[in-house]
Amino acid sequence: MQISKNFCLSEFTRSDTAKRLGINNDNVDMEVVLNLAFLCHMVLQPLRDRFGPITISSGFRTKALNQAVGGAPNSQHLTGEAADISLPSWQEGKEYFRYLSSLPIYDQLIWEQRTTTCWIHISIKRLGTNRRQILSD
Ligand SMILES: [Zn+2]
Repeated sequence: MQISKNFCLSEFTRSDTAKRLGINNDNVDMEVVLNLAFLCHMVLQPLRDRFGPITISSGFRTKALNQAVGGAPNSQHLTGEAADISLPSWQEGKEYFRYLSSLPIYDQLIWEQRTTTCWIHISIKRLGTNRRQILSD
């Protein structure tokens, strides 16, 4: 299912971890689809329009998948309000981050860093107040 010009729902539900552990991460309710579509329209599609194709490493997570990947219990991935973006390089990642931080509406923008990898977490609330909060992990 196409949810914006360049994004389809399966990009947000596919997960290697879910596949490996036999977790069904494909059944999303309409509320989640609407949240993901809003995230695309307000944040991810503008990023894509600016930089070309981008890769979502984690979008929607069922409770089981969120637990398996060690997500926060109240993670916005559970409601389709958040996505993690793979970074082609540190440099491009920083450009993505700078661009995303300038967008008018988002809830949290986080530069996530582990020893061997970094990615960007971005979230938005379709309903409720967006904090436009920038964090570095
Ligand atoms: Zn995330």
